[in-house]
Amino acid sequence: MSHPTDGSCIFCRIVVGELPCFKLLEDEATIAFMDINPVNSGHALAVAKGHWPTIDVIPPEVLAAVAKTAQRVAKAAMTTLEPSGVNLLQSNGVGAGQSVPHLHVHILPRFPGDEVRLNWTYKPGDKAEIEAIWKRLTAAL
Ligand code: AMP
Ligand code: ZN
Repeated sequence: MSHPTDGSCIFCRIVVGELPCFKLLEDEATIAFMDINPVNSGHALAVAKGHWPTIDVIPPEVLAAVAKTAQRVAKAAMTTLEPSGVNLLQSNGVGAGQSVPHLHVHILPRFPGDEVRLNWTYKPGDKAEIEAIWKRLTAAL
């Protein structure tokens, strides 16, 4: 299977074996490896083999393959590391904190008292504003 590739992209270079990684698994469309700057013990990445920067441009079947790989890694982390929970995170664009513009899902095992700041407390929203945004989104679907 051929994939779009970008020779200046760190993850494309890992996919072709130009850069090393702690590889967890690989299939036709995806690869998973350990994050080299782990925010928590067991932080891993499920990565599309092809170079698609963000969720809006990746083919849906490749996104599904990345999700399947993320599930396999999450299950291994759950049984092996016995975390108190696992977050999956997928960022799109610099505004979302994406630093490598090649689609990937973070698998983040969570442990009591860890320093990962991903969660927030509920705050009731403004119904009129929710409805206005809902109308715009439904019109785009
Ligand atoms: P994001 O900020 O969502 O784009 O995530 C990119 C992730 O890739 C970060 O957590 C980095 O630590 C990780 N990363 C960058 N370079 C490498 C590398 N060579 N091997 C493994 N992980 C990497
Ligand atoms: Zn790439």
